[in-house]
Amino acid sequence: MALLRAILTRGFRPAIRLPAVGTMAVFHVETGGCEGCAMEVAALDGAAYALPRAGVRFVTTPRLADVLLVTGPLTRAMAPVLEAAWHGMPDRKALVAVGACAIDGGPFGENYAVLGGLEGRAPLDASIPGCPPSPAAIVAGLAGLLGASEPSSSA
Ligand code: SF4
Repeated sequence: MALLRAILTRGFRPAIRLPAVGTMAVFHVETGGCEGCAMEVAALDGAAYALPRAGVRFVTTPRLADVLLVTGPLTRAMAPVLEAAWHGMPDRKALVAVGACAIDGGPFGENYAVLGGLEGRAPLDASIPGCPPSPAAIVAGLAGLLGASEPSSSA
């Protein structure tokens, strides 16, 4: 019983305070990789980070998104999916690479199944390094994006 109480007590931590970053609708696409970055993004969407209070919400369709958040290296299979998501977004939009794989391919490099990272292939508005970056680092990267003058208007 004491062990259970200890586990439960440690499991119920107060919400982590994040700085307000404005209003931002984020559509996340995992293009491959080990899912480590995708799990950090999923953690970010959890109650512990109280993201809506910071002005950031995840959306389930690119048509409602301001930001396309990409994790994992760009695989040949997912490249058309990513492109379709990008073109499905409204005109003022931003492309953000989260993690080493999404930026430059990370440990996956380039091969018959993997094209590599987005750097040099797509107009990145922000790159958030790490393997994986923490949820707090991802929020800091998004906050920096709001300071950018002009998000991309087209691919
Ligand atoms: S950057 Fe690291 S954690 Fe993220 S998908 Fe690549 S290998 Fe996994």
